[in-house]
Amino acid sequence: MRRLTARKAGYFMKAAIYPGSFDPVTYGHLDIIKRAAQIFDELTVSVLNNKLKTPLFSVEERVNILKEATKDIANVKVEAFSGLLVDYAASRGIHVVIRGLRAITDFEYELQNAQTNALLSGGALDTVFLTTKLEYAYLSSSSVKEIASFKGDISMCVPGFVARKVYEKFGYESGKWGNLNEQQN
Ligand code: ADP
Repeated sequence: MRRLTARKAGYFMKAAIYPGSFDPVTYGHLDIIKRAAQIFDELTVSVLNNKLKTPLFSVEERVNILKEATKDIANVKVEAFSGLLVDYAASRGIHVVIRGLRAITDFEYELQNAQTNALLSGGALDTVFLTTKLEYAYLSSSSVKEIASFKGDISMCVPGFVARKVYEKFGYESGKWGNLNEQQN
C-alpha cells in the first residue's frame, strides 16, 4: 500500500540512465556504475554519439567495451543514443539521470546540464550525483588518452582489456605492459 502511494506520487525511483562519452570507460566510471546499480533496480549506461566530438573509439566500440566491462552486473544494460538526453530518457520512460562529480571543476558544468534537462523536460528528468571515490578523483578519459599517446602506463586507470585497445589505437603493441590484467582495482 505504502509502495503504491509512493509510486503514485512519483517518488518510487526504479530505473536510471548514466549517460556519457566513455571514450574509453575508466575505473572512475565503473565505480559510479557499480554504485548506481546498487541504488536503482535497472541502470542503462548510455553512450552518447556526439557529432561535435572526435572520439578515439566509435560508438559501437565504446558500447562493446562497456558491455564487456559490466557483464557481471546483472541489472546494467548498455546502449548508444544521440540527440537530446531528455527525449531519449522520455522514450525509455526513465526519470533519473546519474552523473559523477569529481572536483569543483565538474560542478558548474554538471549543475548547468542538470538544470537545463529539468527545464527541457518540464521537471520530468532529475539528476542524481554520485561523488567520485577519492582514489579516482584524478581520473578522466582524456588523461587516459594523453598518457597512452605518450606510451605511459594506464593500467591503474582502466581494465587490462581496455588498456590494450587504447594502445592499439595509438599503434603501440601492448606487450610492454605485459602485466595488464582484467582485474579491477
Ligand atoms: P561526458 O562527455 O558526458 O562528460 P564522460 O565519459 O567524460 O562523458 O563522463 C561521464 C560522467 O562520468 C560524467 O558525469 C563525469 O563527471 C563522470 N566521471 C568521469 N570520470 C569520473 C571519475 N573518475 N569519477 C567519477 N565520475 C567520473
